This record gives sequence, structure tokens and C-alpha cells, in this order.
Amino acid sequence: MLQLDAIEAGYAGLRVLHGLSLEVGMGEIVALVGANGAGKSTTLRAASGLLAPTAGRVLFDGRDLRGVQVHAVVRRGLVHVPEGRALFGPLTVAENLAMGAYHTGERADGVLELFPRLAERLGQRADTMSGGEQQMLAIARALMTRPRLLMLDEPSVGLAPLMVSAVFAALASIRDSGVAILLVEQNATQALALADRAYVIESGVITLSGTDLADDDRVRRAYLGR
Ligand code: ATP
Repeated sequence: MLQLDAIEAGYAGLRVLHGLSLEVGMGEIVALVGANGAGKSTTLRAASGLLAPTAGRVLFDGRDLRGVQVHAVVRRGLVHVPEGRALFGPLTVAENLAMGAYHTGERADGVLELFPRLAERLGQRADTMSGGEQQMLAIARALMTRPRLLMLDEPSVGLAPLMVSAVFAALASIRDSGVAILLVEQNATQALALADRAYVIESGVITLSGTDLADDDRVRRAYLGR
């Protein structure tokens, strides 16, 4: 479904990705784990078109996304929830969800069933919600665009353990409903437990991939602390 093929990308004077390749298939959760600064967020930016790769290709459904505007990428079914969540802070929960549904007219029933806490707080301003609630809202708003692939940047960051479990449980339900997920996480233990497959990124390249990375000694030592 999504294919990154030998991507090079970075920022003024700093190349971060050095020929990075990865794939996400239909209906799977793929985790991308790696240390601070390895290039995880940059990978998602390159995939969603927020950052134009300087070399390599991004294919979605086999079509090259080069030059496709971010909103058009979303309409094709690929949505990116950035770190920091990018909610409309002064707007309410309901208004944020409505923004997500702008092009699809999607009804909120499904996401409110997935995140009942949002249903209790439809009139609350987004910027007064807790960190975990804001994360739920960001995921819910992304789902209102009816994606086929959801890319999430560090959904667990700054959340209390119970909230992390709630968010990860929701991700499993989303996958079971047929939406594929590319999950960037520093919380490698939980990400690898949830994912169907995973990649390790180091200094802008993929150094390991597979279905059982949590059992790999190198991964255990470097990312799982055991
Ligand atoms: P973290 O887990 O700390 O978020 P990451 O793996 O997501 O790390 P990136 O955010 O992709 O890493 O950053 C990779 C490198 O690119 C870092 O050295 C970072 O300082 C740099 N970088 C990221 N965003 C920018 C930017 N907007 N301008 C300049 N440099 C950037």
C-alpha cells in the first residue's frame, strides 16, 4: 500500500534520511522504532509530503506521490498525525472532529464509540483536554478523513501508563477495522508488542526489519533495555 523506496530527505544543510526503504501493507500495523534523532519523524514527513524527498520515491497504491499536495494525499487515504498533534486548540472536540470530516462528511459515531471519553466532552475546548485525551482526539480527527493508512508520530509520548494502554488498544481496534497503521514510537516495548511487523531506523537508514524484533538480541539491548 505504502512504499518508501531509497528516500533521501532532510532540512537545510542537514541530510537525515540516507536511502531509506520500507513498506506498509493493507491492514497491518508496522512499527518504526529508533533512538532520538534517528529520523523517525522525518520519515513520516517524507511519506505524507510535508517534506519533499531529494531522492527516492514514495508510492501509495502504486502511484508516485511526488508533487501531490498534502490535502490531496489525505484524500487518497493517507493521513499523518504529527507529534504535538496539531489540534485546533481553541475549537471544541466536536469542531475538531468536524474539521476532519470536511471532505468526507463522515459521521462521528464510529470514533466516539472507539473513544467514549471524547463523547463525554464534545463541547470542551481541545486545548483544555489532558494529553491522553488530546491524543485520542487527534487520532479520532484523522479517522474522520476515512484513511486507509494512518501514520502516527509518538502517540504515547507524555501519557500516563493507563492512557498509553487505552490508546494502544484503540490502535488494535482501528487495525481490525481494516485501516493500516505506520507507528513511530520511542516506546519500543509496547510498539513491538502491538505491531505485526517492525523496522529499526538508525541514522537515517533501516538496519533491521521483521516480525519478531522483540526477540532479537540487538533490539533487546539497544531499545528494550533487557
Ligand atoms: P525524536 O524521537 O527525538 O523525535 P526522530 O527519530 O523522530 O527523533 P527526527 O525528528 O526525524 O528524529 O530528526 C532527525 C534529525 O533532523 C535530528 O537531528 C533533528 O534535529 C533534525 N531536524 C528535525 N526537524 C528539523 C527541522 N525542522 N529543521 C532542521 N532540522 C530538523
